[in-house]
Order: sequence, then structure tokens, then C-alpha cells
Amino acid sequence: MHEDIDEIMISEEQVRAKVQELGEQITRDYQGKNLLLLGTLKGAVPFIADLARTIELPLEVDYMAVASYGNTTQSSGVVRIIKDLEGPIDQKHVLIIEDIIDSGLTLHYLVDLLRQRNPLSLRICTLLNKERTRLKQAEVSYVGFSIPDKFVVGYGLDYAQRYRNLPYIGILKPSVYEGVAR
Ligand code: 5GP
Repeated sequence: MHEDIDEIMISEEQVRAKVQELGEQITRDYQGKNLLLLGTLKGAVPFIADLARTIELPLEVDYMAVASYGNTTQSSGVVRIIKDLEGPIDQKHVLIIEDIIDSGLTLHYLVDLLRQRNPLSLRICTLLNKERTRLKQAEVSYVGFSIPDKFVVGYGLDYAQRYRNLPYIGILKPSVYEGVAR
């Protein structure tokens, strides 16, 4: 285990099994449909890479980057597009692939924006869903794990751009935050 990690919340094996399960479900649900997996940068990259390989269907992958977090652990509520999709989505069934839904602010913004582009369908798949009141309700079709309201890192999730490469989801030691303005 990494020295900055207090506790492993979800092990590498648990993540792998869940990703496989989600991939099988998506394979069943999108038979015969023109599927676009829309990954959100940067956090969802390991998840979408693993998930895409468990889906036994022809599909496209594209990415959007929207930011609502700086180097802190609290949502700023400020969302901006850093990178958009490469093409139109009006002939596609879009499945948004998220790493984590916390307040839901980021996702709400993204869903609103994409709806205006008239996709054939628009659904959400998230690896992690925090168990707390959402500021904005959004229907989530596929959830990997419901987790308590703790700040987690690993498997794509960062703290100040670090820890994305950990193969598990872990809770950071409090000492890592000490002396950092939040
Ligand atoms: P929301 O807008 O739902 O509050 O936040 C969504 C984004 O905040 C996620 O895509 C992720 O980048 C970041 N985020 C929310 N909770 C966590 C967390 O526990 N750990 C990390 N590393 N990022 C988080």
C-alpha cells in the first residue's frame, strides 16, 4: 500500500470484478445501438479504458474535460469546458462514463449541455457514487459502488494531480492535507 494511504476502500480485485459486471450489463442493454462512450477527463480514464474492453459491441470513445475542482477537496461549483467532443452526437446513443459523482454539479452541467445536442439517448455510468444529498438530481443508470462521503484517490482519482495511478480506491492520510488551504 502507498505510504500516504490510510485505508483501501475498494481493492483492485473488487474494481476489476465490478467493471466486468458493468460491461456485461452495458453489452446486453446496447445491442444493435450506435454507442458512444463519453469519458470525462482526467479521472475516468482508467475506468473507461477497462470498461470499454469488457463491452462486446462496436462502439466509439470520445472525451470531454470539464473542471469543478482545483487542488482542494471541496466542490467550487464553478464548471468550465476544457475539451469538447470531436463531432455531433445526434445519431448516437451516448453513455457518459464518470469516475465519481459527489455533489452532482459537474454532471448536471454536462447533461444539460449534451441534451441540447439531441443524442438518440443519454445515460450515465459512474464507478463511484457518494452517499449524500445531491445538490442536483440526475438519473444514474449504472453505479459501480456507493461510497461514504470521504475524499478518495486512486484508479484515476487525484489529490492535487497525484495518486491517479494507484490500482485501488483509497482514503488519504490526514497528514497529506495538513498545512494545505482547503
Ligand atoms: P461534483 O461536481 O459531483 O461535486 O464533483 C465531481 C468531480 O469532483 C469528480 O469528477 C472528481 O473530479 C471530483 N471529486 C469528487 N469527489 C471526489 C473524491 O472523493 N476524490 C477525488 N479525488 N475527486 C473527487
